[in-house]
Amino acid sequence: MGYSTKHKLVTSGLKLPVRLLLGPGPSNLHPRVNQMLSSSMVGYTDQQYYKVMDETMELMRYLFQTDNHFTIPISGAGTAAMETCVANLIEPGDNVVCLVAGYFSDRIYQMAVRYNGNITKVQKPWGTWFDLQEIKTALETHKPKLLTLVFGETSTGVRQSMEGIGELCRQHDCLLMVDTVAALGGVPFYCDDWKVDACYTGGQKCLSGPPGISPLTFSNRATKKIAARKTPVANWYLDANLLGQYWCPEFNFADGSIISPQPLRKYHHTTPANLIYSLRESLVLLVEEGLDNVWNRHKQAAFDFYKGLEDLKLSPVIRDVYDSADEKGGRLFSLTTVSIPEGIDGKNIMKFLLDNYGIEIAGGLGDYAGKVWRVGLMGHNANHGNVLLLLAALKDALTANGYKC
Ligand SMILES: *Cc1c(COP(=O)(O)O)cnc(C)c1O
Repeated sequence: MGYSTKHKLVTSGLKLPVRLLLGPGPSNLHPRVNQMLSSSMVGYTDQQYYKVMDETMELMRYLFQTDNHFTIPISGAGTAAMETCVANLIEPGDNVVCLVAGYFSDRIYQMAVRYNGNITKVQKPWGTWFDLQEIKTALETHKPKLLTLVFGETSTGVRQSMEGIGELCRQHDCLLMVDTVAALGGVPFYCDDWKVDACYTGGQKCLSGPPGISPLTFSNRATKKIAARKTPVANWYLDANLLGQYWCPEFNFADGSIISPQPLRKYHHTTPANLIYSLRESLVLLVEEGLDNVWNRHKQAAFDFYKGLEDLKLSPVIRDVYDSADEKGGRLFSLTTVSIPEGIDGKNIMKFLLDNYGIEIAGGLGDYAGKVWRVGLMGHNANHGNVLLLLAALKDALTANGYKC
């Protein structure tokens, strides 16, 4: 028997184009973050690596604005962090309410039904968000042990108001799980002040980092629930108990206490060291600039973009703009859905931007397919220069397609 030679093999290195990524993610890597990807490999029991792990966890607490001890990066895309919440926080038979008004909130629902809970989908039209009364009614009617929602819905460009939700959930003895994948590190978010119990993001959106590494945090209420489970978590890779034995063996899930001296870390899976170095660098950049400056830069870029859209006779799908990002729902500053004008094929414009300017924006998903463009001004891409470039490129593309700007 000889070895097979039937495969069509390439022998040349990859030459990829350089793009300006102004879609819903990924966004471009910051050069310092990029550099970390080629760092020298270390073993997963190296003391130096343990130090990096601890530093990264503390940096993530700043990102989330939390004191939660259980704050770790999940090895996987944002969806893996989503599944970590769902798999650990739902026990068979638990009542769960999923608030759904877009593609990603529906993904949480799709995932939740696989974990044998008693899942209720509370649905509203795309482009809307939930007010406190609706959430109160859902809590009273369905008596869930877990409520899930998306803070920044990338499919619609909506930012859910967080005012009062955490308080309500505590009154109803319900855990609150929030997806902040497209928003964290771009839009004000206060995990502890808003009494959020489970929260996660992804590296590749507002953090200007690589995909495949996803910060996650659980409150002590959440870890207490996990410690009290009667059934093992049905997903071994994402089992928080096992992950905790590697990331923070000193943490007692049941009561939130810290065990001293720290028990030995236990191998669970080989964590992607270079992705963690990159994430650490993204977070160091965040600290250097300061969260409030970062939030303001995103907001300013968004407002510049809205103004430019007006000049082009285009309009965002989500009409309301609130100045106070932490009070009311409204537009998500890091991601804007733009209505495609009548008579224009959205795909042609996207192709024109890519071919002539190397700029990537995205089209709509689900209910918004063919109706909107999705423009992300995330992470280090959220700046005035990129906004001006995009507006000029859009004008060029629209004019070439017969639209009078
Ligand atoms: C991008 C995104 C996700 C999924 O993240 P992946 O890294 O693609 O798995 C989940 N939720 C929201 C709101 C997102 O924008």
